Amino acid sequence: MKKIVGVYRNPHMHWVGDGFPVKGLFSYSRFNQAISPFLLLDYAAPYHFEPTTAQLGVGSHPHRGFETVTIAYKGEVEHKDSSGGGGTIKTGDVQWMTAGGGLVHEEFHSKAFAKTGGLFEMVQLWVNLPAKDKMTAPKYQAIEAKEIPQIELENDIGHVRVIAGSYLDNVGPASTFSPVNVWDVTLKADQQNVFSVPVSHNTIVIMLSGQAVINGSDVQDSSMVLFENDGQTDFEFNALEDVHFLILTGEPLNESIEGYGPFVMNNREEIVQAVEDFNSGKFGQIPVA
Ligand code: MN
Repeated sequence: MKKIVGVYRNPHMHWVGDGFPVKGLFSYSRFNQAISPFLLLDYAAPYHFEPTTAQLGVGSHPHRGFETVTIAYKGEVEHKDSSGGGGTIKTGDVQWMTAGGGLVHEEFHSKAFAKTGGLFEMVQLWVNLPAKDKMTAPKYQAIEAKEIPQIELENDIGHVRVIAGSYLDNVGPASTFSPVNVWDVTLKADQQNVFSVPVSHNTIVIMLSGQAVINGSDVQDSSMVLFENDGQTDFEFNALEDVHFLILTGEPLNESIEGYGPFVMNNREEIVQAVEDFNSGKFGQIPVA
């Protein structure tokens, strides 16, 4: 069984813009190489928005050097970016956006969701790009819920949605620059399952809701479980309640990480360059209308 480095809980919410009430569950500034190629994860736990005509979210801002992955559980988000990408992600959908060499984008609640209001629940994950791909052209993968294989676990104890990578030979739709698995999992109360991950990958469990015991450690909602990359492949998951969690695994990039706000590169010079390029308009503009 894999050893656990630690269980890190953050029940505290902060606002990203005026549309995303998130709990930061991990960041490279704290864990650095231990979570490579993952950089950051924000969880917007279920939050009720009243109907509004206002546009809630985050206005125009840049990214360079990594990918942003938005998983919509409840509510809808509209994206638009300077490379011409954009669209609405709805319940069950995933947007896998490659910022690469640079883009500017905006992230707002959809007009339809704003009009009716209701519960909003999302995850945004940042995945690093290998140094050789950091300046790749921006790309936008809009992955609809129906494209994501949902594997029912034996004896009807829960399911695994394969967003990226593969689970028991079921391949997820996201195309990635380095080997990763992103599994979106539910388990019913009082059920157990053993998960096996690639032996060389860094491995994280993100507990979104419910309580569980993982390899003997108690884990509550809004927590990150970081495993040692110790040559073991398995961990045992005991659900004490109905649980919803993500399993993230990835081959470590083993490259230096230098981040500054929305830019994540390999060294300071590249960060200075990113700021200069953005300030001089090289990231382009979001098309109007
Ligand atoms: Mn963004």
